Amino acid sequence: MTADPRAAEAPPLPDPLPHPVVDNHCHLDIGRGADPTPVEQALAAAASVGVTRVVQIGCDLPSARRAVEWAATYDAVVAGVALHPNDAPTHADLDAALAEIDALAGAHPKVRAVGETGLDFFRTGEEGIAAQKESFRRHIEIAKRHDKTLVIHDRDAHDAVLEILDEEGAPDRWVMHCFSGDAEFAKRCLDRGAHLSFAGTVTFKNADHLRDALVLAPQDRVLVETDAPFLTPVPHRGRTNASYLIPLTMRTMAQVRGEDLGELCAAVDANTERAFGGAW
Ligand SMILES: [Zn+2]
Ligand SMILES: [Zn+2]
Repeated sequence: MTADPRAAEAPPLPDPLPHPVVDNHCHLDIGRGADPTPVEQALAAAASVGVTRVVQIGCDLPSARRAVEWAATYDAVVAGVALHPNDAPTHADLDAALAEIDALAGAHPKVRAVGETGLDFFRTGEEGIAAQKESFRRHIEIAKRHDKTLVIHDRDAHDAVLEILDEEGAPDRWVMHCFSGDAEFAKRCLDRGAHLSFAGTVTFKNADHLRDALVLAPQDRVLVETDAPFLTPVPHRGRTNASYLIPLTMRTMAQVRGEDLGELCAAVDANTERAFGGAW
């Protein structure tokens, strides 16, 4: 929760995109300093500017259950289920929590992803790292056994994430969500088969390293996300993010790559379907 009074104030609708895209990573159930926008309203606002589908990401047991429920209820929604790397160390009985994630991963065909899992060395101290790593390994196994897409959260943990992925073996489909590395790290991820998902951070002034990575990535490996309600793109940085703000990020991405906006949107849309196991 934030005390910033501007945070809860909704930015205006941007111009619609010329071709629909998917917000492949959002948390429609999280508010910032206010209740979250009702899900039907959030989906309608997004669809009105061309963001016609979303991947709703669960990051603890209650939100993972909710993601499955919403995927079963709304045509536009598919779900990812996991314990976030910052949630994993809080479980006294990690096995029991992971058993429920395992069950949720197989609970409905519209559960397409296991994630977000991974490593977060920014918010979790030394004492939580062992639990994070164990949780990450177990999520990789769950994703592979259910043939789901692995969605990875990597904060300040680039080398450790790839080390564990190499040890366990990456699943067929995996996404580096909110890609935060440079071109060199992008190449290491791409070599291992990753899709790189870019968030509002790619519009930030100090994010030349992300733009370098975006330029290097082949067009068929690029995805777009909000991570809403966080990481709001420029010019609304600091306010509450929502799927309907994806056009701001997509326009920056097309400009940075020197590509036609409609063509890039069509590619991102197709990439997202491929990355998440087909159309929905
Ligand atoms: Zn994340
Ligand atoms: Zn997230």
